[in-house]
Amino acid sequence: MIPLSGPDLTQREKDLVLEVLDSGILGLGPKMKQFEEAMAAYVGAKYAISCNSGTSGLHMIVHAMGIKDGDEVITTPFSFVASSNCILFERAKPVFVDIDENTYNMDIAQIEAAITPRTKAILPVHVFGQPVNMDEIRALATKHNLRVIEDSCEAIGAKWNGEPVGILGDAGVFAFYPNKQMTTGEGGIIVTNDDEIADLCYSLRNQGRGEDGLWLSHVRLGFNYRMDELSAALGVAQLERIDEILAARTRVADLYLEKFRAVDGVILPEIDPRAQMSWFVFVIRFAEGLNRDRIMQRLSERGIGCRPYFTPIHLQPFYIEQFGYQPGDFPVTERVANGTLAIPFFNRLTEEQIDEVVQAVQEEIARDRAEN
Ligand SMILES: *Cc1c(COP(=O)(O)O)cnc(C)c1O
Repeated sequence: MIPLSGPDLTQREKDLVLEVLDSGILGLGPKMKQFEEAMAAYVGAKYAISCNSGTSGLHMIVHAMGIKDGDEVITTPFSFVASSNCILFERAKPVFVDIDENTYNMDIAQIEAAITPRTKAILPVHVFGQPVNMDEIRALATKHNLRVIEDSCEAIGAKWNGEPVGILGDAGVFAFYPNKQMTTGEGGIIVTNDDEIADLCYSLRNQGRGEDGLWLSHVRLGFNYRMDELSAALGVAQLERIDEILAARTRVADLYLEKFRAVDGVILPEIDPRAQMSWFVFVIRFAEGLNRDRIMQRLSERGIGCRPYFTPIHLQPFYIEQFGYQPGDFPVTERVANGTLAIPFFNRLTEEQIDEVVQAVQEEIARDRAEN
């Protein structure tokens, strides 16, 4: 049995969590501050504002930008649903553009045609840890006076043209659910250099409390999106090892890339030479004519963890019901989504396990072809 993913935790994580338990301070304490300072330094951001999920981080940014009822935000349908839901939380409308067939990131050439007088922001997603071309996104945003929210939830440590993602727009978010590169259990963090967004997000995550520090003074409608001390302790320990964690993932990805190169029927992810990946998942794509679902079923039966990645957002039942989307609306997204499969990917995957996965995929492709 080879699982799809798994966190990489050491004695250091346990020690820091126990330290929190021994201290008796479980919320709004020193570990949260320490984690935020370490993250700000790592990314080179003026502010890092922790929160209880990547989704809540995205929501706070949308809210802090004043995006509201009737506004539009341009984003991608090939993503995890939260990158679009965060727009709906404020009753604004996600406007999708299709993706690039090779990088799976939003097709920047299609953005301009999607801009209307109601457009307020662009929300690119660094899909699977590959940075979007942020030079082009920023140029478009400047030209049309739009804000930029980077969904960097899958991309901690990634760089576009040598610059760390997260602060290449107005604000960005990293997420720390257990399947991400680093984890805090549940958790996320906003990074920004924008004073106003930062001030609002500090208040929004803490029930709308004001800067006066009075516990029962609420100056705006806020949320409870705070990160607890146990999660922050995990974050501190994981961030200390982030270079090691990302290097381990690169090692696994490089082995997969090398071994799959010879496998007919598998299309590998294509990486822009200006992009420095932070490998989140390893996703292969099956060539036209192969039955992804049947192959997936058989790999699962053989004990190999795998899952379609992603199911397009516009074809989620809720989005069909709300907006009337239909199959065919975003053909590249749908074609890619129907052929892709995430395979086992985590720091401690051994070369033997990698060989086993590649072998199994190769055999199931041959079997699928024989049956067609
Ligand atoms: C993980 C993820 C998020 C945030 O997820 P949470 O579970 O709320 O932390 C947002 N966007 C994308 C693209 C993600 O992969």
